[in-house]
Amino acid sequence: MLASTRQYAFSISFLIASALIISLAVYSMNVAHRIADVHSPLVQASLEIKLELTQAHLLFEELIVGDNQIDISKVLQKIEHTQWFIHAMTQGAEKNSMVYIPLDDSDFNHRILRLGENVKTLQSLMHRRLLYQHDSLPGSRADEQFDTYYENILLDADHINQHLLKLILEERSEQKLSNYAGLFLLVFLFIGVLSYSVIQRSRELLLLKKLKEMTMRDELTLLHNRRSFNKVFWKEWSNALRAKTPLTITICDIDFFKKYNDTLGHQAGDACLQQVAQVLMNILKRETDFVARYGGEEFVFILPVTYAEGARWLMEKLREHLAEAKIEHPASDVSEYITLSIGVASCIPSNKEKFELIKAADIALYQAKAQGRNRTVLASS
Ligand code: GH3
Ligand code: MG
Ligand code: MG
Repeated sequence: MLASTRQYAFSISFLIASALIISLAVYSMNVAHRIADVHSPLVQASLEIKLELTQAHLLFEELIVGDNQIDISKVLQKIEHTQWFIHAMTQGAEKNSMVYIPLDDSDFNHRILRLGENVKTLQSLMHRRLLYQHDSLPGSRADEQFDTYYENILLDADHINQHLLKLILEERSEQKLSNYAGLFLLVFLFIGVLSYSVIQRSRELLLLKKLKEMTMRDELTLLHNRRSFNKVFWKEWSNALRAKTPLTITICDIDFFKKYNDTLGHQAGDACLQQVAQVLMNILKRETDFVARYGGEEFVFILPVTYAEGARWLMEKLREHLAEAKIEHPASDVSEYITLSIGVASCIPSNKEKFELIKAADIALYQAKAQGRNRTVLASS
């Protein structure tokens, strides 16, 4: 339940982060599109205006000083070009695969229109100077006035051009910012996904380890189970075979346990098995010594690098500890407390059948029972 809520929250965060990244990418593309498709043609147009006006002015000056090769139509053509670009910037137009889209900025458009009006005035000033050419020669007052007017127009055109360049610079930095934000989010998302999968994976591994361990444990006593015993026995047998060291098996069986159950009930029997298991576990001192529930009220020890006498000593100590635990058994024929009968078998493994060792321990246990229970019997080798 908790895990699925967490997964749900993660999916939502993942979706939100993805949506943010996509929005930033779309925004960034939009800004790039605005720069490339809208502002660049307008910058081009504002430069054309300056160029055409400058050329018109130069041609006109030459005309005024009496250059016969220049006629007014050439000057007017330049002025017309200027007006065309002004129109394109405010109303939109298309020429030579260049598309001019007006800005959605009424102040700016107003400025361009005013420039158009001034160009018109410049044009009429030109006509007047042509009419009164003798008063308009370079250096005259009319010439000075004309030049001042022309320079102001050029300055206006320059301002328009500067404004557009500033706009492009601003949008470029906006685009950069959104690119950085997108990159940051992407890295953030990547780290998030990575850490999430690492955490998930380690959780799964931990769970798997726990599950695996559970399949190796006896549910009631929490000792290793028969399956675990088989595995460890196989391993220790191989080790002892290779190292030519002794391997000992002991099988312990609770005496008169049926009677215990019959007298005190099955639940008390379960509790008794748990108590006995505790005593068994506490007796283990070596890292390699191993105990498991073999089945019912039977337990088995694997004692590597241990001879029979050493194992007998350990089992006697076990019986002493069990006696000290004083688990009452009101129906036992041998003691007022729970007791164990133990069979011990030991060998230095050779290639003979390894189950012979278990069989020998089992026979020794049977003999312990037959000899009166509550004792340890060594298998005859
Ligand atoms: P002996 O001294 O000859 O070993 O006699 P015993 O009564 O101990 O042996 P027997 O094999 O006749 O009975 C074993 C009893 O152990 C029978 C069964 O009810 C009990 N037993 C086996 N497993 C469990 C368990 O998990 N819980 C409980 N409460 N009893 C169990
Ligand atoms: Mg038994
Ligand atoms: Mg028994």
